[in-house]
Formats: sequence, structure tokens, C-alpha cells
Amino acid sequence: MRITAVKAVYPKYNHVAPSWRTHFWQIVVRIESDSGVVGYGYGGGGVAAVEVVNRHLGELLVGKSIDDVTDIADAWDTLYAASTPYGRRGIGVMALSGMDLALWDLLGKAEGVPVHELIGERTKGKVAAYATGADSEWYAEMGFTAHKFPHRFDGDEADYQTAVDRASRARVIFGPDARIMIDTYMSWDAPVTIEMSRRLAEFNIYWFEDVLTPDELEGQAALRSRVNPVLIAGGEHEFTHHGFREVAMTGALDLWQPDITWCGGITAGLRILDVARGVGAPVAPHRGGEVWGLHLIVASDCVDLAEVLLGSRGVPRDELWLGEPRAEDGRIEPSDDPGFGVVVNEAML
Ligand SMILES: [Mg+2]
Repeated sequence: MRITAVKAVYPKYNHVAPSWRTHFWQIVVRIESDSGVVGYGYGGGGVAAVEVVNRHLGELLVGKSIDDVTDIADAWDTLYAASTPYGRRGIGVMALSGMDLALWDLLGKAEGVPVHELIGERTKGKVAAYATGADSEWYAEMGFTAHKFPHRFDGDEADYQTAVDRASRARVIFGPDARIMIDTYMSWDAPVTIEMSRRLAEFNIYWFEDVLTPDELEGQAALRSRVNPVLIAGGEHEFTHHGFREVAMTGALDLWQPDITWCGGITAGLRILDVARGVGAPVAPHRGGEVWGLHLIVASDCVDLAEVLLGSRGVPRDELWLGEPRAEDGRIEPSDDPGFGVVVNEAML
């Protein structure tokens, strides 16, 4: 089939988390073909990424034939190369991610198969899900058995105690064997991370996430042995297999977390997995409980672990994708419907 139209839209969100997200949150990419089939993808980068798709990359895709996954990889290479002067990292690749995912959705729908089947043999059934957020009690009530809570270090001695209190509470709520993780969102530094590993030792934390910025690869590499057995995790702000090759060369991370809607889509995800395999690094995609990562997880050697973000009890959320799989008893799997198996909520476009 030939691509006939490409269009990116910034959805009408009512509920987006603050900070950079209010300006640069997720976009929808719609790709039409002469077969009549339409594919939808999810990218990052907000209205800036919408401009990248609608004013540059989209027209490069129109007219191309997409008949198998090799064609998608070729299209990815073309778009990546064309955006090199302003792309490679950040918004250019976030835009490309949405286009790549729309192509996988399109091909899956055209062939009547789920994306995970296009990727390869199924390696997992239901994936162990972990709930990310601050409402630990609610997640436990919903049946989650693994949990990651956020923690910010603002330079106060009291910030150590809040980490201890939250870890202690999570341990009580989820029990002694549950995986408990902490996302610091780049707010810790090396001394804080080492001190935290001492103070939190009794809570058996599985990983510390994003303790430094993604530019501090050597710094993170040096922390790995200092906080062992806690893992140094990160990668949601890294892009493509080129970026993760640097992560591999520096040995920066124990566990890699590419975001499939930011790092270059499924195509980049597969290439990142190749790089990871070369150094024996486990990969657990950021927001892997959303269909974009979940299809990759169940058809690859990704870790059997999918992140689910639920917000907090009673707090309203936008429902952009209808038919998303939900975790039951702490496990989640994609549907076998064609493509990614979700339908965009047109009212938000
Ligand atoms: Mg994170």
C-alpha cells in the first residue's frame, strides 16, 4: 500500500501533569493509505513536534510503499536522516516516534494482525505490571504487587526522611517480597544517591531511577557499584539506538528504560534491544504498560515488567485511547486486535 496522507494533531487535553508536559505532551499521528486503512501513532514533543510532522517529515512519507516491517525501517532511516540537522535527540525524534508507531499500526491493521505479531514470536503472556505514582494504597487495592513512587530531593535534610517514610509505607502496604522502586526525576545527585542507598538499605529498593541527568553518563556508571544491589535505572530521556550506544559504552545504567513514544518508536526500540543484548543490559520500557511499549515487551526479550501510570484516586484523567488494556491482579497484556488494538478518542482531536 502507498501512503497518501500524514497528519499530526495536538489533542485537546484537559488533564496534563504540570512542568514541561503542559507544552510538550503527547501528539497523535494519523497516516492514511491507498488501501483505505488508517494507522494511528503516539509521539511526544507537543505542538513543536506537530509542526515537524506537518511541515517537514510528513511529506517525505507520502508516496512511499509500506508492505512489510523492512519498509517501515527504511522509512525510519529516511526520516531520521532528513531531520538530522535539527533532530537526533528530543523533539525531532519524538515526532518521528509518532510516525513510526502509526506505520506499525497501519501495517498491523492492513494485515489483520496485532503489532506484537509483526514484531515476532510471543515471548510472554501477561506481563507483570508495576504502578507508578504517589497513591500507594490505591494501587495495592487494585491488585498491583509492584510499585514505584516519586521522590524529590530539594537539598533539605528532611528530604531524606520523606524517602525513608515513603519506602517504609510502600513496604508495609505491598509486603516484604514486592518490587519497590523510586523515581527521583533527576533531583538527586551522586552524594545524595549514595546516602539514600545507606538510609534505605533495609527497604530493599529494586531500583533508583533517573538519579542524575542523561548527560551524566559517567557519573551514573560510577554509582552502580556504590549502591549495589539497588539498580541504577534510566533512559526515558535518551533517544534512538545511537543514544543508547553511548549508554552501553559508558556502562551508565543497570536497567534501560527507553520510552517507545519518544525514543523513535518500535523501530528504534528493536535497535535499542540489539544494543542492549550486546552488553547484557535488561530493558524495561518507560510507560511499558501502554500499548506502544506493551506490544514490544510481549514479543521481545524486554524484562517481564510493564509500567502503569494511574494518577491518584478520584483525580480525573483524559481518555485519549479507547480500549487500552488494563492490569488485572497486577498483570497486563495487549489485545490481539489488529494494529495496537486501541481506537483514538476523536472528540479530543
Ligand atoms: Mg521516570
